[in-house]
Amino acid sequence: MRYLIGTNIKMYLGYRESLRWLADMNRDVPETDLADAALFPPMLSLVNGRDLISKRNISLGAQNVCWSHEGPYTGEISPLVLRELGIPYAELGHHERRLYFNETDRTVAKKISAALFCGLKTLVCVGEDADRRDSGAEEFARDQIQALLAGNSDAPPERLVVAYEPRWAIGVAEAAPPEHARRCCDAIRGKLVEIFGPENGREIRIIYGGSVKLEDAADMLEQKNINGLFIGRAALDTKNFAKVVEIAARQAEADQNGGGAARRPASKKPRAAKKPRL
Ligand code: PEP
Repeated sequence: MRYLIGTNIKMYLGYRESLRWLADMNRDVPETDLADAALFPPMLSLVNGRDLISKRNISLGAQNVCWSHEGPYTGEISPLVLRELGIPYAELGHHERRLYFNETDRTVAKKISAALFCGLKTLVCVGEDADRRDSGAEEFARDQIQALLAGNSDAPPERLVVAYEPRWAIGVAEAAPPEHARRCCDAIRGKLVEIFGPENGREIRIIYGGSVKLEDAADMLEQKNINGLFIGRAALDTKNFAKVVEIAARQAEADQNGGGAARRPASKKPRAAKKPRL
C-alpha cells in the first residue's frame, strides 16, 4: 500500500504565504511511488496554487465542502467547482469544523456523499473526545465510521481516506501514544472491512493525526493499520514534512519486503519487529 502523508494548514497562512508554502512543498517533497502527499492549504490559494504543484505524488485538497454541489447555499464551496478546478481531495469532518461550525455526523455524511458524487476523494476525520480516551475510544471510532461511511459502501476504496484524529491530541504538545493510535486504527480497519468487504475494506488508507512531529513518524507508521499521517503545525516547515514523506516511503518499502520496521538512521533506538500487514 502507498502511504499518505497529509497536512491541513488551517488558517495559519495568508494568501501569498500559502503560495510560497505550496511552492516549497513541491520543491522539498520527494517524488516517489511509495508515498503520496495531500496538501490542504487555505481555500483561496487552491486556484493559483494548483499550478505550483508538478510532482505526481502531490495532490491538493479543500479543508471543507458543501453537502450540495449546486443551489441556493450562500457562501458555501461546491465540490463540483473543486472538481472543475482539478482539486482532487475534500477533507471532511475535522474536529474544528464540528467544534466551531456545528457540523455533526449527519452533515458530514452528507458532505461525503456530495464529494464522492462529484468525483472527489474524501479524507474523513474521526476521533474521540478526552472523556472517551481511556475507555470506549475504539467503540466511538467504529460508531463514527458506521455513521459517516455506511451510506457509501459502494465507494471505490482509493477515493476514501480515514484520518483517525483523537480530539484531545489535536493542537497540543504530544501526539497520542502509538499504542492508543494502533488500537483505534485496528478497530477502524475492522469496521471498514465490515462495511466495504474484506478486499476494499483493507485497501482504504487509515492515517493518524494529532500533534505529530517528525520524531513521532517512524513509531506511528510501523503500526500495522496506520498507513500515513495527518499533520498540522509541524508541516508549516516544509522540510520537516518532506522528511516524514521519506520515512513513510521507507516504511512502505519495508512492507513490500515482507513487513517489519523500516531501517532507521543509526542514532535512533531499534524497535520491535512489526507484524505483517493484513
Ligand atoms: C489537525 O488539526 O488535524 C492536526 C493534526 O493538527 P496538529 O498537528 O497541529 O495537532
